[in-house]
Amino acid sequence: MSATVVIGAGPSGLAAAHALVQAGRRVVVLEASAQVGGLSGSFDFAGFKVDYGPHRLHHAAGPEVLELYRAALGGTLRVRARSGMVHVGGRRLPYPLSLLGIARGLGLVEVVRHGLSAVAAQLRPPEGGHFGAEAARRLGRHAARVLYEPAARKVWGLPPEELDASLGRARVQKGGPLAMVRAALGRGGSSAGRRYFYPEGGFGALAEGLAENLRRAGGEVRCGVAAEGLVLEQGRVRAVVVEGRELPAESVVATVPLPLLCEWTGRPEAAEGLSYRALTLLYLELARDRGTSQDVHYFADERLPANRLFEAKNFSGGEGPAGRTVVGFDLPCAVGDAIWRASPEELTERVRPALERTGLAGVEILGARVRRMATAYPLYRKGFDAVRDRALNELSGVEGLYPVGRSALFVHDNVHHACAAGLFVGRLISEGASSRDWRDRQRPFLETQIED
Ligand SMILES: Cc1cc2nc3c(=O)[nH]c(=O)nc-3n(C[C@H](O)[C@H](O)[C@H](O)COP(=O)(O)OP(=O)(O)OC[C@H]3O[C@@H](n4cnc5c(N)ncnc54)[C@H](O)[C@@H]3O)c2cc1C
Repeated sequence: MSATVVIGAGPSGLAAAHALVQAGRRVVVLEASAQVGGLSGSFDFAGFKVDYGPHRLHHAAGPEVLELYRAALGGTLRVRARSGMVHVGGRRLPYPLSLLGIARGLGLVEVVRHGLSAVAAQLRPPEGGHFGAEAARRLGRHAARVLYEPAARKVWGLPPEELDASLGRARVQKGGPLAMVRAALGRGGSSAGRRYFYPEGGFGALAEGLAENLRRAGGEVRCGVAAEGLVLEQGRVRAVVVEGRELPAESVVATVPLPLLCEWTGRPEAAEGLSYRALTLLYLELARDRGTSQDVHYFADERLPANRLFEAKNFSGGEGPAGRTVVGFDLPCAVGDAIWRASPEELTERVRPALERTGLAGVEILGARVRRMATAYPLYRKGFDAVRDRALNELSGVEGLYPVGRSALFVHDNVHHACAAGLFVGRLISEGASSRDWRDRQRPFLETQIED
């Protein structure tokens, strides 16, 4: 009996496999890396479990996602309180925001400027179909200029005018200044994000537990096995190419990048113009029990190449060896550029200003580790959604092929979105839905609101 082949053991692939196995289907999951989890996996460094960038399971996760992950851990999910710090120029704002923190961090003049600019944006919304205009409509021109536009240039490597407005809708707080004030007063909804779930043993424990449960239920999860292509016959997928051989497939759930899927199905032009932003991650082992008391420091400043500094011990509640800690930095970049190619020593020099800002400049560095991710963020260039629609329409013409997850749907998402999409598509396939049916029901999974 041929199986449903799931390509990729990140949250979306594992959730789809789970739904399929629950429905009694035979499932084989292929994972190119040595371990499961994808972008939200963990690895060992200096005796610590560290994540690929700061990862938390947000409270916005729906009940079925929480239930799945609780079962994966064999019990409960630990709840933790956020303790972040936003660095804007020389100023610092504790995160989650509080009115006192904002007033202390920004000073009265700056608070008034933000307030007036936000009110002005409500009365006369700034025009424009790009990211900068959308950020200004949501939070005011001043906040867009000092916070979101520099972040856009650093994270996506493009001026805000070249980025799509939907990036603003996905990533800038919903509800404008009122929502910010509500959040500051501690009355916000999920986007206030004051608490989050984080498992024992690193974020990757969620995926590892899920993979283990899948195996127990009869599913196969093969790590270190990359899919190399698809075999189509009369408009339907018949097999996945693995190590040059054909693995017969009744249907295929694919979480690989959308342009690659278009190439595999002989339609490379359908995804022309879609690309991803890469990330280089530097981890430093420091000779100190705790680096700072924050889980994440956010750097809005463009002159600092790192987007964030995050500390494993402050996510896990102190797990790991005493007297030492590991801090990580995520540096957005393009594949092949100077950051992508930099050695651990060069990267350490680049993040020195971030160490200085967080009071860690003098602490002895005991070791360094670098990780690189080529397709960390789908790049929402202006007008990207027309290309994405074209590419997804083309793929829906291949019977038995179901693209899902961050890279295949080309969507900025969180783990809970990826997981919910995987569960949904797994159930659809079990009910006998066609690729076209899945395409017709993708919209909610393409319009996400990101929790940061
Ligand atoms: C820096 C950073 C921080 C983030 N922080 C958070 C956070 O705090 N909270 C949150 O909810 N979300 C966060 N996210 C988002 C989260 O990581 C993603 O939503 C989630 O991992 C997407 O899951 P996925 O399964 O769609 O894709 P992925 O996690 O990318 O998994 C895809 C998998 O497919 C495998 N694969 C690819 N090609 C092949 C092939 N040819 N053959 C076999 N396998 C293949 C890959 O190795 C990978 O394991 C963050 C993302 C980044 C980049």
